[in-house]
Amino acid sequence: MVRLFLTLSPAISRLNIYPRISLLATYHHSLRLQKHHKLKTETPTSSSISPSSSSNLQRKHFYSTGTRISCLTKSEISKFDDNLVVLGIETSCDDTAAAVVRGNGEILSQVISSQAELLAQFGGVAPKQAEEAHSRVIDKVVQDALDRANLTEKDLSAVAVTIGPGLSLCLRVGVRKARSVAGKFNLPIVGVHHMEAHALVARLVEQELSFPFMALLISGGHNILVLAHKLGQYTQLGTTVDDAIGEAFDKTAKWLGLDMRRSGGPAVEELALEGDAKSVKFNVPMKHHKDCNFSYAGLKTQVRLAIEAKEIDAKCPLSSATKEDRKNRADIAASFQQVAVLHLEEKCERAIDWALKLEPSIKHVVVSGGVASNQCVRLRLNNIVENKKLKLVCPPPSLCTDNGVMVAWTGLEHFRVGRYDPPPPAKEPEDFVYDLRPRWPLGEEYAQGRSEARSMRTARIHPSLTSIIRADSLQQQTQT
Ligand code: ADP
Ligand code: MG
Repeated sequence: MVRLFLTLSPAISRLNIYPRISLLATYHHSLRLQKHHKLKTETPTSSSISPSSSSNLQRKHFYSTGTRISCLTKSEISKFDDNLVVLGIETSCDDTAAAVVRGNGEILSQVISSQAELLAQFGGVAPKQAEEAHSRVIDKVVQDALDRANLTEKDLSAVAVTIGPGLSLCLRVGVRKARSVAGKFNLPIVGVHHMEAHALVARLVEQELSFPFMALLISGGHNILVLAHKLGQYTQLGTTVDDAIGEAFDKTAKWLGLDMRRSGGPAVEELALEGDAKSVKFNVPMKHHKDCNFSYAGLKTQVRLAIEAKEIDAKCPLSSATKEDRKNRADIAASFQQVAVLHLEEKCERAIDWALKLEPSIKHVVVSGGVASNQCVRLRLNNIVENKKLKLVCPPPSLCTDNGVMVAWTGLEHFRVGRYDPPPPAKEPEDFVYDLRPRWPLGEEYAQGRSEARSMRTARIHPSLTSIIRADSLQQQTQT
């Protein structure tokens, strides 16, 4: 078995996301799950399934395509799912994170090593330094995640890892680690889209959240509105034409001389509580664009000019500022936050109308990504969503900022429907080229939502996750 894997692996071991199911991996994996199931069902209850029935179920499941899975009853699938345990690894930007999550959504462990000190030192993410920081801690972070879950690699069903979008140098560290664990312990591997993970973690938090739903994903590098039709299938309703809101929070914090060690957003949010949000007049971006796109570069410039006008010295820490200086800084923080969130509200409101036209059955709007930790963002978007008679699902802050749980959970969601790669070889060649997707759209752009304001750099953009999955399902259909 092992020899066969080693022979086949060079041809199949690129981290191709979601290839058709390998029977070899399937067979091997059903054995592992059988073992795992035994481990987890020491005290059988009337509702538990016996290892042998579980193994049949598993084999059926893993040999199946997504459509055939529906032959199983809901309770069979959920019993089966509960026994899956996935390790998730995230290194796409400046946080090294790992977590272990069970199929029933139980978070067995969650570990994050943040690069906040570096962020404070460089005033932003420096790719080379970030890569070195990931490399220094990745082994420990993964080991800690396993230890805290009270598990070893042998208990895992699969390894999930972010393969994009993000910084190539950083993504590589996580992918290399994931492949080394998966190779050594013969585990299937799932390549995860970072933004899909931000959206799907909401399904771990809110069990009622089913497809289709709308999502606003807001972080340091992304500002996107998507309609989630099905797992892996998204329509992009809007995106940013320049900067994301998190970048604007971070720069505002830096220019205001705030402590960046928890990243800029929380520092601005805290200072804004002391300020008057009406004191500085900032223009709301893209007021006259009747689409769902965003722009934060202009607002950033307005903030910088306001800071210069008040002669605020970023080198003088807030703790040493005079009373008047502190008040000026707080007013700018509050006014900036007010307009930054107003821009989100306006676009989100329009996007809900569009989403309801395309998918009238949607009931939920997910708001996730680092900026969704902000209380003002949560409160105000909740009002917008409730006015449209929908329900807001906002993961807790620890699951909004980058984390391993969202990667493990998204890995689980795809793994369940058979989208995974077979285990890589135990020892990968030195010159192995990893499949990393630094620029990787989540879904296809909604035609009505295209912005002329955006300069589309199309070079080295990967096909979207949605188009890859659609092409793969089509191929499967023609083969059956
Ligand atoms: P990435 O952008 O690398 O995917 P995250 O999803 O963790 O990372 O988002 C990080 C961004 O979220 C940073 O720009 C940070 O300033 C912002 N952020 C975190 N907490 C808050 C907050 N409370 N208010 C506003 N922004 C926040
Ligand atoms: Mg993120």
